[in-house]
Parts: sequence; structure tokens; C-alpha cells
Amino acid sequence: MIQTRQLSYQYPQGPLLRFPDVDVAQGAVLLLSGPSGCGKSTWLALVAALVAPTLGQLTVADQALGALKSVAADGWRARAIGFLPQKLHLSAALSVYQNLAMAQWAAGQPEDAPRIHAALQALGVDDLAQRKPGQISGGQAQRVALARAVLLQPRVILADEPTASLDDEAAAQAVGLLLATARQQNATLVIATHDARVAGLVPLGSDGQIGFQPLFLLRNQL
Ligand code: ADP
Ligand code: MG
Repeated sequence: MIQTRQLSYQYPQGPLLRFPDVDVAQGAVLLLSGPSGCGKSTWLALVAALVAPTLGQLTVADQALGALKSVAADGWRARAIGFLPQKLHLSAALSVYQNLAMAQWAAGQPEDAPRIHAALQALGVDDLAQRKPGQISGGQAQRVALARAVLLQPRVILADEPTASLDDEAAAQAVGLLLATARQQNATLVIATHDARVAGLVPLGSDGQIGFQPLFLLRNQL
């Protein structure tokens, strides 16, 4: 589902980041850990085809990303990837409902109100559909952003520091929601985090099936 080979990325005037090879199966959970600055967000950007690798190859959801031109990458990303960014990027001028409708529009799909309400309902925030992001709490905003990320049933869900600035209880809830949502949709889930608490919140499976937790520790020396 996610396969990388000899992947590296260099920012202009920035460090050369090298990434270990990974093979993540459909439906598996990957915990991408490592200290701040080691390249976690960059790796997510590579997997989401937001940036192209400097060297190496990667295949995500059956698509070889090196060959994708940027216009095609936008369409592919809208369909295949559910991104929960660290900064949620909900549009402040739009209602919660409209923020989800925008995701359908961006993917070239007609607005589907029942589906939007079902996604909000699944995360317990459908009663907030008509509010603006400024009128809901941070935890509620994260649920809305997750509902938006999984609205089109992506095969891969990428979450960047989903527990940042959350207390223990809220952090456990956020990780639990991610795991439950991914399991429900049989999506591959990647949680990028420097938060040591998260490893304890992801159950270790012994069978290599869902719940399997490859721990991918980045060791870029900066
Ligand atoms: P993490 O998410 O693990 O904290 P990042 O992927 O954000 O790490 O960053 C990896 C490294 O690349 C860091 O050293 C960071 O300073 C550097 N970096 C990130 N973005 C840029 C950029 N736009 N230009 C130059 N260097 C960058
Ligand atoms: Mg980061």
C-alpha cells in the first residue's frame, strides 16, 4: 500500500533527509516517530505527492508517484489520501458542512449531503454542521477535520502530530478515533508524532493484521 525505496529529499538550502525503506500493508497502522526536525512531516508530504522525492521511488495506493505530474497528483491525492494536517486548515468563512462539501468539490465530485452528514455523524459532530470553525472547540475542530479527511473513503490516512497540545485524555481520544476510523474503512493509517505517549495508545497486534504496528523511527542526523 505504501512502499518506498531509497527515498531522500533535500530542501533548497536545507538538510538532505534520507528515509529508510518501508512496506506498509493495506489496513496496517504505521507509527512514524522521531524527534522534531527529523523529517516526519516531509515524509508525509512525499507520500501525499505534495512534493517529489529528490531521489528514490515510492508507490502509494497502487500509484507510482515519481511519474505523476502535479495536476494528476492533485486529483489522485483528493481520491486516495485523507490528510489530517497539524494545522487543521478549516476554512473560517465556511460552515462545518461547507468545509466538507469543499472536499467533494476539490475531488471533482458532486455535493452529497447525506454522505457529509454521515461522516460528521460518525465522528459525533453532525450537530455542529451549521457552525463556523470559530464557534467550535479545538477537539471538535479536529473531529471535523478528520471527518473531512475520510469523507471520500481514502485508502490512506495521514495524521501529522494529532496529539500536539492535547492533554492525556484528549490525546487518547484523538488516537482512538483515528484507529477506529481507519479500521472501519480498512484504510492504511500513518501517525507521525514526536509524542512519546502515542506508542502506548496504539495497540500492538501479534497477528500482522489490523493493529499491526510497524514502528518506523526516523534517524536523520541534522
Ligand atoms: P518533523 O516533522 O519531523 O519535525 P520536518 O519534516 O518538518 O520534520 O523537517 C525536517 C527538516 O527539514 C528540519 O530540519 C527542518 O528544519 C527542515 N525543513 C523543513 N521545511 C523546510 C523548508 N521549507 N526549507 C528548508 N528546510 C526545511
Ligand atoms: Mg512535523
